Amino acid sequence: MVEKPLSVGVIGGGALATQWGLPSELLDVETPHGEPSSRISKIAIGEQVSVFAILRHGEQHARGAEINHRANVEALRRLGCDLVISVSLAGAISGRFDTGMTVIYDDVLDFRRSTQSFFGPRDACHVSMSPMVCPPLAAQLSRVAAGLELPYGGTMVVMEGPRFSTRAESKMYAAVGGELICQTIAPECFLVRERGMCWAGVCLVTDRDTRDPAHPVSTPLIFANLDRFRARNARNLLGILSGLRPYDCPCRSAEHAVPKDLTEGLGPRRPPSREGDDS
Ligand SMILES: [Zn+2]
Repeated sequence: MVEKPLSVGVIGGGALATQWGLPSELLDVETPHGEPSSRISKIAIGEQVSVFAILRHGEQHARGAEINHRANVEALRRLGCDLVISVSLAGAISGRFDTGMTVIYDDVLDFRRSTQSFFGPRDACHVSMSPMVCPPLAAQLSRVAAGLELPYGGTMVVMEGPRFSTRAESKMYAAVGGELICQTIAPECFLVRERGMCWAGVCLVTDRDTRDPAHPVSTPLIFANLDRFRARNARNLLGILSGLRPYDCPCRSAEHAVPKDLTEGLGPRRPPSREGDDS
């Protein structure tokens, strides 16, 4: 029987407390990998869920390649998070999704050429990524999505960026099973699993990538649609988080793969304590 509140890390949702109008406190957390992208907003949602939100790109909107994903993930682990939700914008490369939708997707196709890991080049450590969303969490998310009338399930392509896809690339992504596309949620999604936390992905669809020749993806289009759908997406996110309940799952066992010399000095996962306490 699980009794403690569910602690949910949200990467990409640094402004959520403001959008929801909920009280929050700002936490400073340092990690052996450096500082996370931003201070972390702690937001209580009822008695069952605590949210710890990081602004993925920081206040200065760092480019994807400059994000310290390991510090972001490790900071959330140190705050006692049970699961981490990657929140992002995305393009729809499948006709199944369209602009304005909030989608809870459940798999990832990583087409980037670089990566980060908690493991070193000589560590024989390989953490399973199948399934990306563990069954107990998938059951919860599926139920919550149905209640909110949001689509559940889908495959997110992550491309290197910062440029957008060519038409040929978009066709290839769709041909191999990609349905959504973004540039930001990997490698953080994999690092979350390496650190023994559950992972889930939620995105706001801002465009149809190259699928709509009359309205190809562009930065102005993305920001225009972000403005248009931001409030509704924030409400959907709040609905998703409010619907989650504490649960047991096997993801914690992924930590067994971390070499002892990497875990020494990091300390165990622990529940949140006072502000700024990151010892
Ligand atoms: Zn899990």
